[in-house]
Amino acid sequence: MTSESTTGTTDQYTFQNPVTRFESITPPADQTPEPGLEADMEIKADRGETSYRGTGRLVGRKALITDADSGIGAAVAIAYAREGADVALSYLPEEEEDAQVIKGIIEAEGRTAVCIPGDLKDPAYCISLVQQAAQGLDGLDILVNNAGKQVAVESLEDLSDEQLDHTYKTNIYSFFRVTKEALKHLKPGSAIINSTSIQAYEPSPTLVDYASTKAAINNFTKGLAQQLAPKGIRVNAVAPGPIWTPLQPSGGQPAEALPEFGKDTPLGRAGQPTELAPAYVFLASSEASYVLGETLNVNGGMPSP
Ligand code: NAD
Ligand code: MG
Repeated sequence: MTSESTTGTTDQYTFQNPVTRFESITPPADQTPEPGLEADMEIKADRGETSYRGTGRLVGRKALITDADSGIGAAVAIAYAREGADVALSYLPEEEEDAQVIKGIIEAEGRTAVCIPGDLKDPAYCISLVQQAAQGLDGLDILVNNAGKQVAVESLEDLSDEQLDHTYKTNIYSFFRVTKEALKHLKPGSAIINSTSIQAYEPSPTLVDYASTKAAINNFTKGLAQQLAPKGIRVNAVAPGPIWTPLQPSGGQPAEALPEFGKDTPLGRAGQPTELAPAYVFLASSEASYVLGETLNVNGGMPSP
């Protein structure tokens, strides 16, 4: 039977209308403190907890994911575990509650979850994170650089030097530092996936610090992909559009923009984190053996270069 589902999803393989797969949410114009906790979200995000179905695409793989406690990274962690991978989770210490939920889901799949909290602004943590991940997983062959700081500010005059520094250290310096350390472990066949954004091409006027780091991530991805190709390590990026995650109501958007979040996409709704997971699975798996330096846009239909 091929009837169309309009009432949510059975799994990601169910034939269904992408307009109605998830409802078009209208979040309240309320902001929570940064970093947002998934546990505090009034409108829950779908990370694939009950819907993502694995088909053995990453059996035996060992993945380190930054920001694996919430949002897109949590959805990727769930998907990787269901595809057969063991996962090391990086997140901020204050996000322990969220991280334990994802750890529990990974372990329920019979996979290993290694929790390694810390601050990616700290160069020493970037190094010890990789060392602990490789030790805890007994190797490493997938790195997902996904953590990001996004705080909307109306004007450049209001952008503090501290925010500028923290956004760049989190969003791009840490990608260099973590990746450099990871190269000590990644063998031929390994994959690196960087989370960039539609903001790399279409910067919002309130996100000039954040958006410029995303353009840097795209460029980093394309350059490093060429550098590492001869070593058999593939580097790619995923560019999400507006996705309902804790980052958005915790300062990622101006409060008054929240009720309209994602409604201006061609699909007319915000995306859910689980809708990103298949892109990260594809780029990590050996199916993508000839895919390098690519940015996979998952954005509800917003035109991208
Ligand atoms: P999220 O809601 O999980 O929140 C950001 C997370 O980044 C935090 O939970 C934290 O774990 C991590 N983080 C922030 N600063 C950190 C630091 N100093 N040290 C360690 N960890 C830190 O995030 P999300 O919305 O799922 O975003 C994941 C990635 O996707 C980010 O790179 C983001 O820029 C990108 N992205 C998100 C959207 C979206 O609409 N949500 C759109 C485009 C791109
Ligand atoms: Mg979080």
